[in-house]
Amino acid sequence: MSVEAPQATMSPSIVLNGKTIAERIKRTLLKELAVLSARATIAPNLGILYFNTPASKLYRDAQFHQAAALGIQPIHEECALDISQDALERKIQRWNDDPGIHGIFVHQPMPPQIDAQRISGLIDPRKDVEGIHPQNSARRFFAKSRIGSCTALAVMELIDATGVDLTGKEAVVVGHSEIVGRPVSMLLLDRLATTTICHVGTDKAGRLEEHVRRADVLVVAVGRPQLIQGSWIKPGAIVIDVGINVVGGHVVGDVEFETAKTRAGFISPVPGGVGPVTVMIVMKNTIEAFKLQQGSERRA
Ligand code: NAP
Repeated sequence: MSVEAPQATMSPSIVLNGKTIAERIKRTLLKELAVLSARATIAPNLGILYFNTPASKLYRDAQFHQAAALGIQPIHEECALDISQDALERKIQRWNDDPGIHGIFVHQPMPPQIDAQRISGLIDPRKDVEGIHPQNSARRFFAKSRIGSCTALAVMELIDATGVDLTGKEAVVVGHSEIVGRPVSMLLLDRLATTTICHVGTDKAGRLEEHVRRADVLVVAVGRPQLIQGSWIKPGAIVIDVGINVVGGHVVGDVEFETAKTRAGFISPVPGGVGPVTVMIVMKNTIEAFKLQQGSERRA
């Protein structure tokens, strides 16, 4: 049974623990993998292309750790920061053609010389475990997604952990990127939330605060520390902070957390909120991709 978010209260919020949610998903995936391994002679393999930066290597380690814990074989290749478009495309094409690679994940952000949109379109859509190929994006538009955007699905897992029914709720998404803001907005629409998408134009017009203040559900995915002031949060709101920023050697989100925490009903921290769940959704998508390629599910 769903529960309503605390209304108009100033009591401290419930902090949504991404690690606990990720562990719950992992338990379900382990069961699914056990069933699959009884039917298939091979296990899923995940190809990870990462860049030579500390952030990319940290993320690779997190993916590597969770893949290994599930029995998914992680295969990884480092790309130099000056890699050419052609060289990166060749690596992807090689993995597209390799039946032993079931999922392909290319780390973002890609270096500036790389046309990231072209890369998203080049990955075989049945191996696109980040859920960014135009075919997968189009299926989401019709609410028929098989392999969805991993970050957007992670945001929905955190929202679902609150138990709040989204029907008719005011949902406000800040950021309209192809990999987070837009897919999250579509998933909120699917749940019949009245969804507003804010972006750089909203901020330029000085109207960000006004939209944030009426949000029952607020998702922020920009990459600007303290963009959202804690005092703007509607009492009892669900606040999901996707942003990752490094300030003074510490990782912080886009929401002024300490003040927001005194107003929100539920809030996700950074780090330890969306991040661990996103990694687990990549694993879930790898299993989905594996099933599609094994023909054990209907075709994408
Ligand atoms: P992105 O592609 O740079 O998109 C940022 C979005 O914010 C754009 O739509 C941009 O609009 C908008 N924006 C910029 N300034 C704004 C402002 N002042 N007010 C309102 N909107 C503004 O980034 P992304 O890939 O979506 O990622 C967003 C953040 O989430 C980053 O910090 C990233 O590191 C983090 N992230 C976290 C995870 C995770 O698993 N935890 C996963 C993915 C991303 P314009 O394009 O119009 O400028």
